[in-house]
Amino acid sequence: MATAVTPVPARSASRDEHQRRGPTVGRVLVLNATFEPINVCTVRRAVVLLLKEKAEVIEHAEWELHSATTTMSRPIVIRLVTYVRIPRDTHRRKITRRAVFARDNWTCQYCGSRANLTVDHVVPRSKGGPSSWENIVASCAPCNRRKGNALPRQVGMRLLRQPRTPSPHVFIQVATPSIPAAWRTYLAA
Ligand SMILES: [Zn+2]
Repeated sequence: MATAVTPVPARSASRDEHQRRGPTVGRVLVLNATFEPINVCTVRRAVVLLLKEKAEVIEHAEWELHSATTTMSRPIVIRLVTYVRIPRDTHRRKITRRAVFARDNWTCQYCGSRANLTVDHVVPRSKGGPSSWENIVASCAPCNRRKGNALPRQVGMRLLRQPRTPSPHVFIQVATPSIPAAWRTYLAA
């Protein structure tokens, strides 16, 4: 099995942005069979999916990957051959500050400020509030202090919108701060 695939640019191949941009090196956008973006993965993982014929290449770079037995263009966007139902639990990916802020458009969910963001439990942990997507929002530090250990309505505060589990787009953005141009068509859909 050809598993040890390392990205080696083909000689004289033009260097596309995947190679130039450090943080996106090694990232491949994964689309469902329906072309819905569902994830990002490493180049290595993408190659395994391609070699097992579980995915097909939708976009690839100008340069190639070489292993002892295989040569293939460096995938940029792949599509799973079989539709994968995304169970809600898989959707419930790890809650991180970055993901919460990205979901909430980097705005305080109480006053709309974009400065001094913190993460707030809507129902405070001291009152049994869970650390779930539905109970965690971006909040500016002043709102967070004002709310303290109270429920929002106890201190006359209201959420701008009801927090929910973010769409896969949010996780794709969080995993890849600088979205490659070749991905944009698929993420816009
Ligand atoms: Zn605020």
